[in-house]
Amino acid sequence: MFDFRQTKIVATLGPATDLPGQIEMLLSAGLDCVRINCSYGGAEDWQRRVEDLRATERHRQRPVPVIFDLQGLKMRLAPGTAEMSLVAGTQVRFYGAGSAPPAGEGHVLQVDRPGFAELVGDGCELVIGDGTPRLAALARDGEAVIASVTSPGTLGPGKGVTVTNVQAEGASFTEKDERDLLDAVRLGAEFVAISYVRSAADIEPVRRRLAEAGSRARVIAKIEQRQAYDNLDEIIAAADGVMVARGDLGVAVGHEQVPLMQKDIIRRATQAGKLVITATQMLESMISSPVPTRAEAADVANAVIDGTSAVMLSAETSTGAYPVEAVTKMGAIAGAAESEEIRGAHDEGREAADAAVMHAALYLSHATGARALIVPTTTGSAARAVAKYRPRKPIVAIADDAFVAAQLNAEWGVFAAAYEDQGVEDRTKSVLLQAKEIAELESGDQVVVTAGPLAGRPGATNVIALREVP
Ligand code: PEP
Repeated sequence: MFDFRQTKIVATLGPATDLPGQIEMLLSAGLDCVRINCSYGGAEDWQRRVEDLRATERHRQRPVPVIFDLQGLKMRLAPGTAEMSLVAGTQVRFYGAGSAPPAGEGHVLQVDRPGFAELVGDGCELVIGDGTPRLAALARDGEAVIASVTSPGTLGPGKGVTVTNVQAEGASFTEKDERDLLDAVRLGAEFVAISYVRSAADIEPVRRRLAEAGSRARVIAKIEQRQAYDNLDEIIAAADGVMVARGDLGVAVGHEQVPLMQKDIIRRATQAGKLVITATQMLESMISSPVPTRAEAADVANAVIDGTSAVMLSAETSTGAYPVEAVTKMGAIAGAAESEEIRGAHDEGREAADAAVMHAALYLSHATGARALIVPTTTGSAARAVAKYRPRKPIVAIADDAFVAAQLNAEWGVFAAAYEDQGVEDRTKSVLLQAKEIAELESGDQVVVTAGPLAGRPGATNVIALREVP
């Protein structure tokens, strides 16, 4: 039976997914899209993981997209940091990059930003990772900041460091991001995610570099700053998608603000027809437990009902003890939640001609009870124009090439493959035959199929046909 879960699952690759056979198991468990977090590991790790994925997915019908998530302006603990637990009241000395912390001085941590101590003023707090440990800055001592632990927690190499009340300064696209972006392009990334976006202006340099490097990767803006939320509409307009990056967003605005912001971000992105990924701590307890908490199940279900395109796993799959179980559980929770009505875009009246054609195709499929919508597409925009309404039937996209098909497989409810010539003269018939296999349709099923005057011309879909599957 066709796996009809329409909300997509993104999983972050890491040491826990490096074991032989793990990628195959993750794909079988329902993984739709992978994320490489450029804050961890290096080009060799990313290459090995992407090659492993490509080799494993080769025999599957639907190509799997890869998101390269650039680190951005985020400050992190130095790679050589030892794993440690900090208890309340412990004093820690923080040094910036390039400073040489004296040896044998109690708890000492190094942050990968030169001049770190100068950033930290009176009343600032230092937050590690997604919230703990948390420390209050006490004093400056030369190149060091002395801080005292107020909320205990564990830390390790590469963990994020946020200084409260300090606005991130400088270009959000850093030199490291420039280098990592070229690796992403070399490894065929279908998406690039930008961290610490503050306004639409942060999207442009990444788009430019991608175009210069000859990449068609789509750009996802991570919403993790107050300023990004304040500028949400312009960011949604400039990017191809957004991520509700709840870890840093919670640190920036307070945990209590995140749930309603999340709902609002999902609603506004969906209305604009853009991809929206809900991320971080979705099944956090599964890092060390084979089952999620009831609260985590409710969290995933609520994001699904609100219409998120995808739900994302971070440490649950990259370093956790139960990556396959996490994907399986997430799929089961999302699948169960989909028996509720899913919130999609609402009708806004006037729309561009190609979007209106797709809207009409959707109406026709509802009115006739068609089994599926079948959408040949060049850039993917025709499929996205339907997906935003969250219809409860498969959108089978037959893309001109595998790159666009992979991108579409991250979108809500879209099941995409590259066009294979079936040796049938009539292109529509050949598309129908291919869709039949992808969506497990039966001969005689009624479907709605769209077409344009010429294959390969974007934005030109202008024909809607009601057809029977051959
Ligand atoms: C987040 O902050 O929620 C997030 C997804 O970003 P990162 O994993 O880079 O911290």
